[in-house]
Order: sequence, then C-alpha cells, then structure tokens
Amino acid sequence: GFKCGIVGLPNVGKSTLFNALTRTAAAQAANYPFCTIEPNVGDVAVPEPRLFRLAEIARSKEIVPARMQFVDIAGLVKGASKGEGLGNQFLANIREVDAVVYVLRCFDDDDVTHVAGRVDPLADLEVVETELMLADLESLEKRRPNLEKRAKGQDKEAKATLALVDRALAALQDGKPARSADISPEEEKIWKGLQLLTAKPVLFVANVDEDSAAAGNDYSRRVEARAREEGAGAVVISARIESELAQLDDAEQAEYLAALGLEEPGLNRLIRAGYALLGLQTFFTAGPKEARAWTIRRGATAPQAAGVIHTDFERGFIRAETISYDDYVALGGEQGAKEAGKMRLEGKDYVVQDGDVMLFRFNA
Ligand code: GDP
Repeated sequence: GFKCGIVGLPNVGKSTLFNALTRTAAAQAANYPFCTIEPNVGDVAVPEPRLFRLAEIARSKEIVPARMQFVDIAGLVKGASKGEGLGNQFLANIREVDAVVYVLRCFDDDDVTHVAGRVDPLADLEVVETELMLADLESLEKRRPNLEKRAKGQDKEAKATLALVDRALAALQDGKPARSADISPEEEKIWKGLQLLTAKPVLFVANVDEDSAAAGNDYSRRVEARAREEGAGAVVISARIESELAQLDDAEQAEYLAALGLEEPGLNRLIRAGYALLGLQTFFTAGPKEARAWTIRRGATAPQAAGVIHTDFERGFIRAETISYDDYVALGGEQGAKEAGKMRLEGKDYVVQDGDVMLFRFNA
C-alpha cells in the first residue's frame, strides 16, 4: 500500500490526530472501513464524494473506496532532546514511507508542555528536519568514496549516481532538504534509489486550537506561507476537534461542523492531501454490482490502469471505453454518455485522467 508517515516533536498532537483517523473510520464502518494493521499503522479509505454520486447513478449495490495508509512515527524524543542522531528504528520507519506529514503545533495551551518551552511551528519544523538532514548527510558521505572509485572506470551508473549524490550533498550542506535539488525525470529512478529521508514529498499539518479550526491563526498562516515557498502542501486542522468529531454519529457530526463553520471534517482534507502528496489519482468503474475507486500513479496509461484491476486486463488490453466524470454525471450515466457521443474509445497510449470512468476490453 501507499504510506504517509506522521512525524513531529512530542506533544504537538500526533497521537490525537492518528487516533482520530482510526476512530472516525471505525465510526463509518459501512462506507469507510478502517483496520489497524499494526498499532501504529492505520489503513483508511479515501473520502471521495464523486464515488457516491456515481454509485447513485449506476445504482450500484456496493461502494468500494480507494485506500491508503498513515503511519504514526514516534520516537523523535531521544535525538531531539540530546541533540544527537535519531534512533535507528525512527529512521527505518521514515525510510519505509512514501511521503512525510509534519504535524506542527499551532496552538497555545499552558497545560500542554512544549519541549522547547515556546510555540513556534517553523522552529519545530527545523528541529525535526535538521535531524533528518543529518541522517541523509551521514549516509551519503558514507557511500561517496566507494562510488567515486567506481565512477573513475566505465561504470556509467556509478557516474550518474555520484552526480546525484553530490547534488544532494550540496543542498544538505547548504542547510536545505534534498527535495530542494533539481532532478530531471530521467534522473528520477536513481534519485529514488538513494532513499533519502528529506527527498520524500512533504505536507505540513498546522494543528490549531479549537477556535481557529475554520479560519486558522497567526501560527498556521506562517506554516502556510512556508509551504507556499517550498511548493509543499499545508492542511489546517484542529486535532482536538477531529477527535471529538470522530466520536459522533453522522447527524451530530453535521450539526457540530455547522456550528464550527466547517464544511467537512478536517481529516477528509488531510486524507485527500496525503493521497495527492503520494502522486496518486483515481479512476472509477461503475456498474450495478459495484462502484469502485481505483488508485493509479499520475501519468499512468490505460493498460497500466487496467493492470491495477487484473494483470490479465493489462496483458490482453484492447481498449478502454472512457467517460469523464463530469460527462457521466451530466448525462445520467453510461447510456446517456454513449448517446451523446461522450464515450471515448481510448488505446494503449492514453494517459488516464483523474475521475475517468472506465470499462476495459481485453483478450482473455
Ligand atoms: P504527540 O506527543 O505529538 O502524539 O501529542 P498528543 O497527541 O499526545 O498531544 C499532546 C497533548 O496536546 C495532549 O494533551 C492533547 O490533548 C493536546 N492537544 C492535541 N491537539 C490539541 C489541540 O488542537 N488543542 C489543544 N488545546 N490541545 C491539543
């Protein structure tokens, strides 16, 4: 599965957020089943209003959402407090995830101790990120001499790798995360192979006080500004409100949300932002049996999309009968779209667009 790791300093609200994620899904078991694989791994359904609309139109018996995972990565305490490197387990946990969600404390509360004695989300971000940058620096410096030796010969791969190692080192020595380096699409594969912690895409979660859940506050605005500078994502959320929302039934939830001036739980925004962060998008299949959301990487072709459903679909791919979501809804479903000439026959080079409703034709 695709995983987002949740990191941050102690007492910023990571567990509150993670527990809300687990509970909210459990509360909506029918549509958003949740299961805890390990104590710190939560498997969540991606909230996708379009899927429910499709199911209505296609009169589908079942609704099957797309899924992703959040991992609660604790354990920053030691390294941060002693100013030393991080525990191996902590680093190993981050290495395993595809993207990193930084939870940043954006609430004042004298009853909740801050490890540094003051609320400053950008300083917190720097503390955590510095630890990760140090770990990357160390691992690159360890690998470099051997690579340099191999790159002197005819080893083309070693040469290409060395160039990227040096680009990452330049960024890190400049106090910047590896993700700030310019990497071309052709270099992407070797770059990923370096497995750098600070090369992973990041999302900032500004955890605000209850009163700022709708409009944010000065702290969260600083976080958002920083995200814009970096081209990172940012989500403003109140973990405490989310944990309360997660315990309510649908009607109570709607009432509470309205009172707060919120359109939907912040967790929905968080999950969708995490999904986008992973470079994922959705296509749909819709029929009387089920309406289903499938996950593909952005840029995937029609046969690759078919392969997510079944390897036979990819191997024997002939074409994909494709209707864009908007057409499907506006024209009342497959039949209407067909009659209006809005069903496209797409071939093997077609790059699937987010929201495509697809039916694959293949040779068995
Ligand atoms: P973690 O160490 O990062 O996992 O932090 P926790 O989730 O355990 O939260 C630490 C403390 O902060 C707990 O007492 C929470 O109730 C409190 N807390 C978390 N989120 C909020 C919030 O949005 N507002 C306020 N006032 N307190 C919060």
